[in-house]
Amino acid sequence: MRTESINRRKNMPSVRIPQISPISLISLLYALSLYIFYRQGFISGATFISVAAIVLAVVVLFYGIFRFGLNQRFREPSLMLPQLAASLLIMLVVAYVERTTQMALVPFMLIAFSFGIFRLSTASLIGLSLACLAAYLSIILLRGQAEGFVQAFRTDLVQWCVLALTLPGMILVGKQIQNMRQLLRATRYQLQHYEEKSARDELTGLYNRRQLQTELAQARLHADTSGAPFSICLIDIDHFKEINDRNGHLTGDTILKDFSRTARESIRDTDILGRYGGDEFLLILPDTGIKGAVMHAERLRVYTHFLDFQELLVQKNISLSIGVAEYRSGEKITDLISRADSALYQAKQMGRNRVEWIEGQ
Ligand code: GH3
Ligand code: MG
Repeated sequence: MRTESINRRKNMPSVRIPQISPISLISLLYALSLYIFYRQGFISGATFISVAAIVLAVVVLFYGIFRFGLNQRFREPSLMLPQLAASLLIMLVVAYVERTTQMALVPFMLIAFSFGIFRLSTASLIGLSLACLAAYLSIILLRGQAEGFVQAFRTDLVQWCVLALTLPGMILVGKQIQNMRQLLRATRYQLQHYEEKSARDELTGLYNRRQLQTELAQARLHADTSGAPFSICLIDIDHFKEINDRNGHLTGDTILKDFSRTARESIRDTDILGRYGGDEFLLILPDTGIKGAVMHAERLRVYTHFLDFQELLVQKNISLSIGVAEYRSGEKITDLISRADSALYQAKQMGRNRVEWIEGQ
């Protein structure tokens, strides 16, 4: 099917500039918090510099991957899981090496997870949570073994329990958000479907009269602003009532469908064809003056006249009468249609199977 104007309007080009991902930003903020630990004398300068260097390296690595589009090679191009895993791993290792940084571990872990809930599946979130909890518990136990299971160990254990109870809540929120996103996607799809359907004629699949009015208004606006001409052709099948009477209404329907398909195939991509009503069709020819429009109409008339309906019709062929009119700057659409209608009437009066236009255009 040809490019339709509804889609043309929607498919505006969008420029995407790769940015630092939110997870990378969280890692940078975490490194910044470590600077405060360092300034307050809780961790050594060497630890801070090492962690800052590792965080920077990871941020640059992922930026590069996104910048050069390498992420598109993966099944999940957002790379949320590896990004999140790298960020959490850094935090856990630092918490193991520098005990006091445990203070920052839980809040930063939760912030990192809150980004994960938008992209990761529930299974991935559960897996990642369990892995984090297991790693954190191992750190606490290892430290307990080294330093003795004293008060500090119990404090760590309480903190671990709080995290263990918080993460399922986080996953639950994530599930809710994912459900809502799914619903939103389905609703948007349905809306698009109905929008497309409401613009079409059910029998022929062409634009219906309402959509044609919209297209005409747009063509008029374009002509008024650009100064380019545009023309319309009002097309009517000759003696269609007789075709129905002699061959049956269902055959009449088939003729309407067949004609619509072949007419659509014979016009330019930029031309707009719709069913104006009954056996009447309207063709909008952008950037076309009256001469060009008459030529197009004549070609369509001849083309249609030679369509072979031998298997369907007693009379084997159908013919068209076409009235053509060019838009006059500033005039109403109803006036334009009325001129095309007068030309069509003239074509009928002059014996049908012909193209007419009102003189003095
Ligand atoms: P003319 O050459 O003057 O145009 O003669 P005509 O018989 O084509 O003119 P008229 O407008 O009187 O007839 C149009 C016919 O189209 C009448 C109507 O029954 C038929 N028609 C309208 N819509 C449909 C449809 O969806 N399917 C079928 N099969 N026929 C339809
Ligand atoms: Mg007719």
